[in-house]
Amino acid sequence: MSRLQGRVAVVTGGCSGIGLATVRRFAAEGATVVVGDVDVDRGPEVADEVGGRFVEVDVTDPAQVDELFAVAKREHGSVDVAFNNAGISPPDDDSILETGLDAWQRVQQVNLTSVYLCCKAALPYMLEQGKGSIINTASFVAVMGAATSQISYTASKGGVLAMSRELGVQFARQGVRVNALCPGPVNTPLLQELFASDPERAARRMVHIPLGRFAEPDEIAGAVAFLASDDSSFITASQFLVDGGISGAYVTPL
Ligand code: NAD
Repeated sequence: MSRLQGRVAVVTGGCSGIGLATVRRFAAEGATVVVGDVDVDRGPEVADEVGGRFVEVDVTDPAQVDELFAVAKREHGSVDVAFNNAGISPPDDDSILETGLDAWQRVQQVNLTSVYLCCKAALPYMLEQGKGSIINTASFVAVMGAATSQISYTASKGGVLAMSRELGVQFARQGVRVNALCPGPVNTPLLQELFASDPERAARRMVHIPLGRFAEPDEIAGAVAFLASDDSSFITASQFLVDGGISGAYVTPL
């Protein structure tokens, strides 16, 4: 498929997990990919692999985020797709009773403020073009509560979902679509690290997934490519759940 032929796509958090799988999928569908990440060790090799461009960026830094999207426009001519995906899930973000203000604020900065900054930077280019697709990574925890809490993470993803919906509505008639991608648990370093320390927590979560397994990053990347492409031209302001059935389930199969 070459649904993204001639498009320029910016992907944050593109060096690992969902972001990396999406960088590869976007490139396979014809896009020129600009990879933004803090990981300067992996970044250049990821960009080389897909014939794209790596930009070192901390997504919490407004000037660095502005420069990321400026590079896409300046060096490749447009900003057609923004996959605002970088995020963290640190172990010190836990129950509200144990989570300190420092962990709370760090997670809000990386997961929520970053999406605000990326949308703010991408939108002017897309509005000028009269076309664009923004996909912001939220999570299924934006729509459902878990007893195995990560309170700041969940609140940040709720913010991403609400912000994406509002931007989708605001800019719909100017040709820019904005969707919140809400993955279920995905087999990536982010989740592996979290569960390595607590297998019981992992097992407890698995019970609630009708498909009986975590997603692979490629399965999420396929959904992102769909949202990035014109195949999803009537989809905006959505909470796009790719969750193995979690949000639809009451009792799961044995
Ligand atoms: P990951 O840890 O595999 O990759 C995250 C990437 O983001 C890394 O390359 C990392 O270097 C980068 N990054 C971290 N902080 C950054 C910063 N300040 N600036 C720039 N880059 C930064 O994670 P993943 O599992 O692929 O998660 C990607 C997104 O998907 C996150 O927003 C996460 O919350 C969300 N998500 C993940 C799951 C899951 O189960 N893995 C489920 C739902 C949503």
